[in-house]
Amino acid sequence: MSGSAAASLTAPLTDGCTMEPVRTCVGCRARAPKSSLVRIVAQESQLVVDTASRFPGRGAWMHPTLECFDKSIGRRAFGRALKVTETLGSENVARFLASKETQPESLDS
Ligand SMILES: [Zn+2]
Repeated sequence: MSGSAAASLTAPLTDGCTMEPVRTCVGCRARAPKSSLVRIVAQESQLVVDTASRFPGRGAWMHPTLECFDKSIGRRAFGRALKVTETLGSENVARFLASKETQPESLDS
């Protein structure tokens, strides 16, 4: 982490800890640290996973799970979050999530 680019507007530094920005997942509507969510942007009528944070403009945050993705699609949350009224293709995101879920990761919690 290179941590001195805190350009937050009015975030009060309460207790010396660097608080991570929190975003709301467009799928399950739960609040979660930015780092546990992925940013989704609209590019030419397609939803794109902005893994490298390289797309400017509006982004929708979501847990990188098929469950939250389904919920977002079901309630058209992306269009609302991204202020896009046209239908957005979601293949890119579906593919991203599918490849993520098939990766042999063992996440013990
Ligand atoms: Zn979620």
